[in-house]
Amino acid sequence: MSANDAVVSTRDIIARRNRLLGPAYRLFYEQPVQFVRGEGVWLYDPDGNRYLDAYNNVAAVGHCHPHVVQAIARQAAVLNTHTRYLHETVLDYAEKLLTTFPAEIGHAMFTCSGSEANDLALRVARTCTGGTGFIVTQTAYHGVTVALAELSPSLGLSAEKDSHMRLVPAPRSAGDDTGEIFARQVRAALDDMARNGIRPAGLLVDTIFSSDGVFADPPGFLRPAVEAIRAAGGLFIADEVQPGFGRTGEQMWGFARHDLVPDLVTMGKPMGNGHPVAGMAARPDLLAEFGARSRYFNTFGGNPVSAAAGIAVLEVIESEGLIANARRTGGYLLDRLKQLQARHELIAEVRGVGLFIGVELRRAGIAGTPATRESAAIVNMLRERRVLISAAGPHANVLKIRPPLVFATDHADMLVENLDQVLQALHQA
Ligand code: PMP
Repeated sequence: MSANDAVVSTRDIIARRNRLLGPAYRLFYEQPVQFVRGEGVWLYDPDGNRYLDAYNNVAAVGHCHPHVVQAIARQAAVLNTHTRYLHETVLDYAEKLLTTFPAEIGHAMFTCSGSEANDLALRVARTCTGGTGFIVTQTAYHGVTVALAELSPSLGLSAEKDSHMRLVPAPRSAGDDTGEIFARQVRAALDDMARNGIRPAGLLVDTIFSSDGVFADPPGFLRPAVEAIRAAGGLFIADEVQPGFGRTGEQMWGFARHDLVPDLVTMGKPMGNGHPVAGMAARPDLLAEFGARSRYFNTFGGNPVSAAAGIAVLEVIESEGLIANARRTGGYLLDRLKQLQARHELIAEVRGVGLFIGVELRRAGIAGTPATRESAAIVNMLRERRVLISAAGPHANVLKIRPPLVFATDHADMLVENLDQVLQALHQA
């Protein structure tokens, strides 16, 4: 197939998508890319070209990991059914998953997506607190349901005037007072709820603040805000869809960096390495109250195949030492990106932890204007060089680097060298 044929076929596929799937979807990249195969940190297009995946946290243990593929295939060949029969695999999974949490978190419930997990957490929080108000960050993303789209300002939908949501700025200062500043914003939001007769139900945050632009420092900064929401009678919901399952290179969960125990934890994306399994973990006393007043059924959530996939992912994280790898490779990548910062003025800040890194681009330093256009150009130029990343943050000027946890130092080198060349090309343009 010639390059021209490939372009034509990409154009044809886009036209076919638009005809069949309609106009609401968005594709990545000016020149969208088609993949037909994946392996480890690599994705392959129809011509057999390989792309370095420095973006996808769903295939966290590597694309098409054989242990996960076999677990799914084996269970699918024996039995898959809805979740109202007794089946031990989901219990084996819950048992294994719960060992990764602090002792206070005693139950696991299963869903098919992070959105469903967050939606369930909202229901539990509303039921147990009697409140309706939720606090989220200014560029948060928490899911696709009606309730969560309202709590996802990054979607750009305007909040209803009578909304029970309050927004707080993301904790971006990374100083000794970051926790206090963030808590002050949360207290101000709680005061505003009180003035408007809204009872608080919870503070819902992504513990790595990915769509806000990746904020991990200083460790522990979330604690004062969590104390504030609890003092007001609300719950702390840790959305671990992004940082969960070892990505921070420290422990299994992003909240562990803040040395606190959430009331509810939601998880998804990497949980089945691509198989749609997600869930919520909770304090048993909360579910006792929720269960007494409500009930929960999810046709597919936690079915035998999903549970087998989930177990296999945990086994790989453990057997391949992927949390330690995220720490090692992530630390190496962070250092190399900081070296790059010394040579490229456009890089205003490099931050993150483990294999979740944000590179903030601004014209003329950290106080300068966000380099939104340059960020988009870099993401697209890297894609032309077959390296995949994306951009996040309120101005889409933070390069979002979030590779599968099997990323090694030579992959990090390849990413940094390509980024270096792209920054040079941009500078010369
Ligand atoms: N929470 C966060 C922090 C997310 O990033 C996402 C997905 N991008 C979700 C929730 C929703 O997960 P899902 O797409 O599986 O519904």
